[in-house]
Amino acid sequence: TKSSIGLTVCFFEPDMDESARARRQLASDLRHAVPSGELRLLYQPQRSLKTGEISGYEALLRWHHPKRGLISPTEFIPLAEETGDIFAIGDWVLQEACAEARHWPETLKVAVNLSPVQFLQDGLIERFRAILLQTGLSPNRLELEVTESAIITDKLRALHYLRQFKAMGVSVAIDDFGTGHSSLDTLHAFPFDKIKIDKSFLLRAETSHQALAIIRTVLSLGRSLSIPVLAEGVETQGQLQVLESEGCDEAQGYYFGRPAAAPSLDLPDAVNF
Ligand code: C2E
Ligand code: CA
Ligand code: CA
Ligand code: CA
Repeated sequence: TKSSIGLTVCFFEPDMDESARARRQLASDLRHAVPSGELRLLYQPQRSLKTGEISGYEALLRWHHPKRGLISPTEFIPLAEETGDIFAIGDWVLQEACAEARHWPETLKVAVNLSPVQFLQDGLIERFRAILLQTGLSPNRLELEVTESAIITDKLRALHYLRQFKAMGVSVAIDDFGTGHSSLDTLHAFPFDKIKIDKSFLLRAETSHQALAIIRTVLSLGRSLSIPVLAEGVETQGQLQVLESEGCDEAQGYYFGRPAAAPSLDLPDAVNF
């Protein structure tokens, strides 16, 4: 069976010790990742389909492990959530992303992912406010991306946090929309600034009537609630055409740009397509 950290765990087999040891080792290595400077952020453009301009960049985390090389966030974030290292990592990510975005033109936002574990932590608002102050980034240039699982665990607390972020001027997007539970309910009850349609729907948009129907439904939902919709995972011109003809507001994906290190970002005037 696959565990949440993506390692294969074989119960009652001789190599179980081996794999448990590997996991413990990785957890202990992760503890040193922040102080040792092994974490990096890459940035991927988000483009407005109405104006053709880049509206901002999503920060995506990478771990350069000294022995194992590059490790995906889908492998180490769940581990960090289990060990509690997610708090130090999350603070580092926010600090780094805000400090970086401070150098960008003021029209550009930076989007930062928040783990559900991190989102429900005490003192989150105060620490984020302090990081914004310290980096000098205007709160209205920060967008937080949260998934539904962050919301449904403790709805009252989530709503309280969302309202406080919004009062500070920070915007909040719902990520991976369409893959969780009670999506319609969540959208009504929570004041999101953006809906990000999960990339799995776009991947099948040209071949599956169902996937296309879901995209259309989310777009019409966004329109009726006046929440802009961003489609993730745009890889081809065909997919872009679908989004344009359906009136999608924003898009993100390899077609527009892969996640890239900050120094190589194409920051000045957005290139029209
Ligand atoms: P996500 O937030 O849904 O991020 C989008 C993922 O899709 C990223 O994977 C991105 O590189 C990838 N992607 C972008 N464009 C395309 C495309 O056109 N096609 C395909 N197939 N994929 C595309 P990545 O960077 O491996 O991140 C995976 C997940 O790890 C993220 O999913 C997010 O849930 C988590 N993550 C990444 N950075 C952070 C972070 O700083 N903090 C937390 N808590 N989670 C993070
Ligand atoms: Ca995201
Ligand atoms: Ca997503
Ligand atoms: Ca995801």
